[in-house]
Amino acid sequence: ETDSTSSVTWAQGPRVAEVPSEPFRGQLFINGQWREASGGERLTRTSPAYGVVVGDYARATAADTEEAIGVARVAFDQGEWPRMSGAQRAAVLNRVADLVMARQEEFALLELFESGKPISQARDEIQWAAELWRYAAVCARGLHGDSYNTLGEDMLALVLREPIGVVSIITPWNFPFLIVSQKLPFALAAGCTAVVKPSELTSGTTVLLGEVLKEAGLPDGAANILVGTGPEVGAVMCGHKDVDMVSFTGSTGVGKALSATAAQTLKKVSLELGGKNPQIIFPDCDWDAAVDAVVFGTYFNAGECCNSGSRILVHESIAADFEQAVIERARKVPVGDPLCEQTKVGAIISDGHLATIQGYVQGALDAGARVSLGGQALDVQGLYMAPTILSGVSPEMAVAREEVFGPVLSVLTFGDLEEAISIANDTLYGLSAGVWSANIENCLAIGRRVKAGTVWLNTWMSGYPELPFGGYRESGQGRELGRFGIEEFTELKTIQMHMGPRTGWWLPKG
Ligand code: NAD
Repeated sequence: ETDSTSSVTWAQGPRVAEVPSEPFRGQLFINGQWREASGGERLTRTSPAYGVVVGDYARATAADTEEAIGVARVAFDQGEWPRMSGAQRAAVLNRVADLVMARQEEFALLELFESGKPISQARDEIQWAAELWRYAAVCARGLHGDSYNTLGEDMLALVLREPIGVVSIITPWNFPFLIVSQKLPFALAAGCTAVVKPSELTSGTTVLLGEVLKEAGLPDGAANILVGTGPEVGAVMCGHKDVDMVSFTGSTGVGKALSATAAQTLKKVSLELGGKNPQIIFPDCDWDAAVDAVVFGTYFNAGECCNSGSRILVHESIAADFEQAVIERARKVPVGDPLCEQTKVGAIISDGHLATIQGYVQGALDAGARVSLGGQALDVQGLYMAPTILSGVSPEMAVAREEVFGPVLSVLTFGDLEEAISIANDTLYGLSAGVWSANIENCLAIGRRVKAGTVWLNTWMSGYPELPFGGYRESGQGRELGRFGIEEFTELKTIQMHMGPRTGWWLPKG
């Protein structure tokens, strides 16, 4: 079957809000003040779902970026934020969470208009993000170092966790508010100050956060927000001598490039990059749960998800039946207007990205795969891709190895556990992986031998603020969330204290 819009289930129901007639307007947030960019230019964002301009921002220049970094530097070296108690910082972070939740619908709609994601998901994203601010508040009070009294009675050592300093935070477009909330509250909890640059495609909610930070009582200059492009603003944020650390989420290509820039001044870099995450399906799995997880893992956020489980490895004895069950369920996923509460798959972020996704599908067909569902962009207003399933994919095809970042499932098969592990590990990535099996030995063997930062056994894409998240290999370096989430933004200092007389230490006295 090749695509027609008839293979798609359209979401039904009223819109929860109007498409705005005026765009959201934002300025630069530097030192607690809102102002225009020094170059006087604007950067606009057209909604991928509605085709109208929904965001209109002051476009930061390199000079604005240098100014923001300078402000963050002074706020760190002389300001009150790094010198407060953890409890005082926690109070501000909790107020941010409260204020975000009080404006949840406003945040959700802005995220929706710029990204094209469905309203139910946008609301969830804002709520999860608020939860991260609350968890970071807990971390602010719990952060501590270490002490050693085991070095001899005349020696005592303290290991301090100090804030690393000024942090540059650079985020992508797929979960803008969630991802800034995986970074900024933890950096602030540690006592760092920050310059934040969201993706130029989805800057709105990060700009709105500036209003919330101010109202919550964050001292001026502790967090500064710039809308701008990667080469103009992001590059300065990664190269500037006054920045101590770069925390980046985005593509592996940009992650490598900015690491090279940051290496010139040996800044610490933490990277959350792409993934090509396998879900391994055994014949003894809970069939219904596995089918559901595959559909969810592939089509959630229209597949624009670093954790997308869009490469399934199915045991050959059940492959045909399992695939058929996935096709039937995928056909029922409601696609369409993001403002409709029923919608599960909204618009694709940009026309360029839609073309990239189609290119992967075409490449797979040219290499001998088949389309068994969808396969094409949908001929409607807005940028939509039909939920797609590619059958007969083999491990060497690009679609099986590279991140498609769209609603496209690749179905591969395996014969035994060893083959499953070897195919699962046969990419440059290592973000996440999953196993569906009632057999604990299968689950644990894969759990231990697949190279991935997260392995889900009989679940998929669950996440908790308590648990570290990050990637092996080209999926990144460093971890976010959990106690690691705050510790990443610290530097260790060892203080050694000697007590009592010191004689004959190196040269005899006199
Ligand atoms: P991207 O790499 O194109 O852009 C990310 C950010 O980097 C943007 O803010 C962009 O302006 C900025 N940037 C671009 N060039 C830069 C440069 N030279 N110097 C500094 N900054 C620069 O990524 P994207 O297209 O926005 O997002 C999609 C990618 O993000 C996917 O690869 C996805 O896997 C990844 N991602 C990873 C995770 C994770 O946690 N591992 C989560 C979400 C998204």
